[in-house]
Amino acid sequence: YRKMGAAGILAARIGPGPHLAMMERAGVRLPGGVPAAQFDFFHEMLVHQETARLGCPGFVDGIGAGLVIGLPPVMHFGPQWMKEEVGMKVLTGEKIIALAISEAYAGSDVKALRTVARRTPDGQSFVVSGMKKWITNGTFADYFVTAVRTGEGKGTKGISLMLIERGEGVDTKPIKTSYSPAAGTAYVEFDEVVVPARNLIGPLDDGFKCIMANFNHERWMIACIAQGYNRLVLSDAYKWAAQRSVFGKKLIEQPVIRNKLSHMTFEVEGVENTLDHLTYQMNNMSYKEQTAKLAGPIALLKLQTTRVAHRVQDDAVQILGGRGITRTGMGQNVERIGRAYKFMAVYGGSEEIMSDL
Ligand SMILES: Cc1cc2nc3c(=O)[nH]c(=O)nc-3n(C[C@H](O)[C@H](O)[C@H](O)COP(=O)(O)OP(=O)(O)OC[C@H]3O[C@@H](n4cnc5c(N)ncnc54)[C@H](O)[C@@H]3O)c2cc1C
Repeated sequence: YRKMGAAGILAARIGPGPHLAMMERAGVRLPGGVPAAQFDFFHEMLVHQETARLGCPGFVDGIGAGLVIGLPPVMHFGPQWMKEEVGMKVLTGEKIIALAISEAYAGSDVKALRTVARRTPDGQSFVVSGMKKWITNGTFADYFVTAVRTGEGKGTKGISLMLIERGEGVDTKPIKTSYSPAAGTAYVEFDEVVVPARNLIGPLDDGFKCIMANFNHERWMIACIAQGYNRLVLSDAYKWAAQRSVFGKKLIEQPVIRNKLSHMTFEVEGVENTLDHLTYQMNNMSYKEQTAKLAGPIALLKLQTTRVAHRVQDDAVQILGGRGITRTGMGQNVERIGRAYKFMAVYGGSEEIMSDL
């Protein structure tokens, strides 16, 4: 993981921004030797898609998903000391960060969260108590960018974001999911954790806007990764269809199989077009403008990508036959991705929520 930091891969995974110049000054070069000032969202997209080509979703989420969704709030809304100190430690791979928003009673409906932060009488600290659920990289994270209720009431007002370091009162437990424990999916419990007031990220009682703004990049990144898996599944289906002989000819010569492949291909190419289009938009908008204009289009991109994943996966298993549901051999990518593509249809905002945004 530290090697990824030294190779600039961790920095590249949160895209363009002042953090790249910070890393360049520290002697870290970006992948491909791209100068920090020229690095854009297309470069970042390639890094996500190439990472997905490892074909191991649990492991892929284990090597930086927490960073991609947890560090941007620090870099966009955090105080200067946090950007420099925490940013540097996380981007070099020395420390690991996670985003802790969801709870058992607050998944899609973020504002229902119950984790509470009480200000101490001297105003110097908060005392945080509550339980977060399904936190990616949580089992091994050092920092948790955590959504807490600091104000009265149940609406979006009164929610704040703060950086909580692993320490006294912080406990994490693994959650067993359908993909690898390498992702570090966790329950995170805060039991009367004392957090310095300077760890606040964004405005007090108005952190909900920061959480919503952060979702755009997160969802776009999930689409990049899911599309990387789509391309891998499609390419393995082509390889097998071209190689396997059945009834005296190659599988790909069977019209019913070619029909499946053509449908899979136009669907995957369709996602690529939407992804390229939105990535271009992101390159030509400030963060503020993206936040104002791209939430809906990015939600539809994520929905399109995971719906296509569902159909491509279904057809790929039929083309690969038993191999598509076997953990070793030619179909192992399809089998692993088949157990994991639904993750991307749920986390970061489920398909139903994306559809209705
Ligand atoms: C593997 C994994 C990793 C995760 N990583 C993180 C992480 O790092 N950090 C973090 O904070 N969270 C994380 N999550 C949580 C994730 O974001 C939530 O699971 C997700 O937001 C959905 O919440 P829920 O599972 O509680 O479903 P619920 O909100 O209970 O929804 C249940 C179902 O109802 C549907 N539904 C909900 N509301 C509506 C509606 N208004 N209209 C129609 N349908 C609706 C949903 O689409 C869903 O299908 C992770 C989850 C998983 C599974």
